[in-house]
Amino acid sequence: MNNETIDLRVLAAPILAERPWAAFAACRDAEADIFFGTNRDSEGAALRICSICTVCDECLDHALQTRERFGVWGGATEKQRKRMLSNW
Ligand code: SF4
Repeated sequence: MNNETIDLRVLAAPILAERPWAAFAACRDAEADIFFGTNRDSEGAALRICSICTVCDECLDHALQTRERFGVWGGATEKQRKRMLSNW
């Protein structure tokens, strides 16, 4: 077993360079499974976190521009984003 500590700041550096707003994300300490779950419970939990997120607009813009297909982003589910994109 490897007891080395992984410095998450190093792992997160490329993400923060690309998306500086992510440093303020309400989901930064949440389990990724909540945002990429396949049931309504996890979707609801993710949407509740998004509802208090101060960078929700930036996150939704990113998700729409990069055509993120999976998960909850910017307070919107996969289906909701798909609908938004089809209306553009
Ligand atoms: S809007 Fe939701 S998914 Fe996006 S950064 Fe905020 S909490 Fe995370």
